[in-house]
Amino acid sequence: MAKVYFSSARALKWKYGDSMPGKLERMLSEVGLGNYFSPKEWVAVKTHFGSEGAHRVVRPVFLRKVVEGLKGIGAKPCVVDTVRIKGLDYLDVANQNGINHLSVGAPVVLGDGLYGKDNIMVKAGEILGEIAVASLIYDIPGMVVCSHVKGHINAGYAGAIKNLAMGGVSSAHRHCGWKCGRGAMHTIGEGDLVWDSEKCELCYQCAEVCPLDAIVFEEGEQLFWDGNTCWRCGRCVRVCQSEAIAMPGDDERFMKSLAEAAGAVLSTFERKKVLYINFLTEIQPECDCMPAADVPVIQDAGILISDDIVAVEQASVVMLQSAIPLPGSATGTDKRDKGDVLFELHKKDYRIQIDEAERLGLGSRNYELIELGAQKEK
Ligand code: SF4
Ligand code: SF4
Repeated sequence: MAKVYFSSARALKWKYGDSMPGKLERMLSEVGLGNYFSPKEWVAVKTHFGSEGAHRVVRPVFLRKVVEGLKGIGAKPCVVDTVRIKGLDYLDVANQNGINHLSVGAPVVLGDGLYGKDNIMVKAGEILGEIAVASLIYDIPGMVVCSHVKGHINAGYAGAIKNLAMGGVSSAHRHCGWKCGRGAMHTIGEGDLVWDSEKCELCYQCAEVCPLDAIVFEEGEQLFWDGNTCWRCGRCVRVCQSEAIAMPGDDERFMKSLAEAAGAVLSTFERKKVLYINFLTEIQPECDCMPAADVPVIQDAGILISDDIVAVEQASVVMLQSAIPLPGSATGTDKRDKGDVLFELHKKDYRIQIDEAERLGLGSRNYELIELGAQKEK
């Protein structure tokens, strides 16, 4: 049975050992990074850099603790994400969100190069066929997947599976474009954008968030979409509050394809070379790639660590399913009733991605929860 380590976000004493960074140090020591990684081995600390306005990413202090832990056993870590917006702009976003070499103590790099085209096609499954895995992630022998748990408009819940699937895969492939990249998860078929001029309020948000300038409003009122340039990231669809643009999608297929893509990424690692750290902190309603981060909808729960991706996801959702919605948040309620806050927000059966990951053999939903308290006095 998989072990899942947990430390609560509550600080019961005003001591470093009771802080979240202090508890993370203890967790890493209990898990034993040396059981997974070797001296001199390169290890990717996979995280999501966020967006210009979405600041609620995994905080640099936690990334630094992971980096220090890896350096402590002699491994060579780097902090990694893949190109979401143009590569140079995305590194600027990382820096703005506090993630840089000085803050985290290791190089901060893009796994698929500045252009997002350094990737290798890897077998995925029935839905995706093959998918373009970032070449650094393909080549590197070890990885610690640091995921910020939050909601998601299509997946309902976003944690380690989504971090690996969307973040381990490039937006597009040099030759087969978006159909081999994460756009294949977002859309089905030809994936063409459909615009409804009747519903459109000409707010231009879709054009503003497009990382490729693939949407232009001609004479200010006629949407032109460049289907050859677009890599079907879906940002435009997600920010449109008038439901005036759509791309053909299917939430169940999306969630299953997340599990497939995560499996493709993991197939490039040997067994027991990937660790997962889920941060149940600043749990906001939407993905960190959106142009803004809303206030948290659930109180911080803590940190979970496992070497089983399914177990760490299952343990995370079990904790979230009995949470109390935070007043003044997107939950729109001041009631203190416990419930499945993320389901109430998005009305998506997000467990599909976890069930599918288990069906694909990525791990098990059966786990033993080991709660760790404060770090021992130094
Ligand atoms: S975001 Fe939606 S409403 Fe705004 S301009 Fe684009 S299509 Fe129109
Ligand atoms: S899906 Fe929308 S935001 Fe993304 S590249 Fe295409 S047009 Fe731009």
